[in-house]
Amino acid sequence: MTIVLDIMIRDVEQCLIIGSGFGGLCQAIKLKKANIQNFTILEKESSLGGTWRDNTYPGAACDVPSSLYSYSFDIAQTTWTSDYTEQKGILQYIHKVAKKYDIQKHIIYQQNVCRMEYREEEFVWYVFTDDGSLYKAKFVVTAVGQLHHPKIPVFPGVKAFKGGMVHTSKFSSRQLEDYADKNVAVIGSGASAVQLIPELQKVCRNVYVFQRTPNYILPRLDLTPKLQKVMNTFTFTKWLYRLYLLNVGEVFLLGAIKGKRWAQKLLMALWFQNMKQHIQDESFQEELTPTFSIGANRILFSDTFYPALGKSNVHIISKGIKEIDTNGIVSLNESRTEVDDIVYATGFITNPFLYDMIVTGRSGKVLWEGDQGSHGYFGVNTHGFPNLFFLYGPNTNVGHTSILLFVEEQADFVIRTMSHLDDNGFQAIEVKKQIEDAFGSEINKRSEHLAFTSVKDSWYLSSNGCNTNNWVGSFKEYKCRLKRVDLAVDFDMHGKKPLRRNSKKMPSQAEKHWILSLCFRFLQSVISIIFSAPKAIITKREKFD
Ligand SMILES: Cc1cc2nc3c(=O)[nH]c(=O)nc-3n(C[C@H](O)[C@H](O)[C@H](O)COP(=O)(O)OP(=O)(O)OC[C@H]3O[C@@H](n4cnc5c(N)ncnc54)[C@H](O)[C@@H]3O)c2cc1C
Repeated sequence: MTIVLDIMIRDVEQCLIIGSGFGGLCQAIKLKKANIQNFTILEKESSLGGTWRDNTYPGAACDVPSSLYSYSFDIAQTTWTSDYTEQKGILQYIHKVAKKYDIQKHIIYQQNVCRMEYREEEFVWYVFTDDGSLYKAKFVVTAVGQLHHPKIPVFPGVKAFKGGMVHTSKFSSRQLEDYADKNVAVIGSGASAVQLIPELQKVCRNVYVFQRTPNYILPRLDLTPKLQKVMNTFTFTKWLYRLYLLNVGEVFLLGAIKGKRWAQKLLMALWFQNMKQHIQDESFQEELTPTFSIGANRILFSDTFYPALGKSNVHIISKGIKEIDTNGIVSLNESRTEVDDIVYATGFITNPFLYDMIVTGRSGKVLWEGDQGSHGYFGVNTHGFPNLFFLYGPNTNVGHTSILLFVEEQADFVIRTMSHLDDNGFQAIEVKKQIEDAFGSEINKRSEHLAFTSVKDSWYLSSNGCNTNNWVGSFKEYKCRLKRVDLAVDFDMHGKKPLRRNSKKMPSQAEKHWILSLCFRFLQSVISIIFSAPKAIITKREKFD
């Protein structure tokens, strides 16, 4: 019997991108815009879309308005029919953008990257996938997301459960109708649960919500359909609305996250009004009241969650889970709930970053081994790992605005770094240790004053309580500071390229610019001579006559 191994070994490429979600596509488009075509995207699944390919549970939608949760470079062409577009609409948008920029041909599917190794002597990254393929690249950009690997708590006895069990990010072909007339348990009450429960409530006999911590849920405050239409008609109004949304998030939501009393009071009033409108029973209100201050966990937006909880077929169980048996869930107070199906709305493994990959950098250093969790300079590069960049990396998640704003800045930074290296004739670039350390200390110091560090089991924090996931300020601050990073000061470069005699040296960006302006001036002089010559001849003739 012959075994055919379908493995690949490829020549060195300029850039490998890992992941084909919003992040990977953004980097690919920016590369193309910079006229760099020699890149490949490795994707472990068999289609693109990342988060929006995986999270197909009923009710899945963005919870940051779509006008902000989309690429800025495509704003003129994009029209949203709803403020918070549902999963299908977002996935369609991602496919449309990929098609427009002809990205599909750069993607290799079913390539799960499991190991990356930096070969210092070659200045090349060796990237291995779990089918044995090997890819080599000068630059690697990881775009594997922060919310990708489902986190499923293992309760005692769970193996005996006879019904169906699924995580919200693994619904795949399941339909809402599959739950019709069933008793369904939803474990968790966070962002996904808040979207899913109102949908289940419509078809299930009973929905049992196993809640560990309630959240603050604010009304969506959507635009009216008429205003939505106006905002979506002109590029100018699209930008205006985007700017407005950005500022609302940066002032009010970020204000609450920073612990500003006025912002917290205002949002608390909105939340309480939202809850009181649908839940009148005071003891139930108490059960739905979070024990942490607003801003400490992600602030959620829904107009349907509290109304669903008010329905007679939805039950909140807050006692904690002791065990699961063949057809039920036993709470810590020994009460037992019989269920047919369980849906885990329990979130994702968020730490460490790149957790299913082994990454070794310069001198065999293992990425983020033995220190205080994942870290990076502005989340994009870490010392000891030249030419390796992260999109949506450590400390770049936010709870007050769109992740995509940050991802676009990071992708631009990668391009800037590539051309800096090229202009200076070096092979590799990495952040200096002392610069990254100082940045890390700043993050730790500023995190102490933010609301989310008061929640012990927050997914923003590593096991030792360090903030590894979230950015600590506004998007405007992140953008300005990243744009102002002085690569010549903050980064080290390695591997000066030899200037070969008789070989034609490629002009640098600055030289190209200089040559172009010289040509332009030359052309200008030629044109002015041509136009002034007949005049001169005429005046000469006139004189002569
Ligand atoms: C339900 C849900 C709702 C959300 N709503 C919002 C919102 O409203 N606003 C907001 O700003 N953010 C939201 N987020 C966060 C969201 O994840 C980001 O906004 C964004 O989609 C991240 O894009 P990404 O490309 O970085 O990661 P992802 O979308 O997670 O894509 C990562 C890709 O990398 C691939 N991959 C992973 N590991 C490997 C590997 N080892 N080898 C090869 N390929 C690999 C994956 O298959 C995937 O295709 C939401 C997240 C979830 C789960």
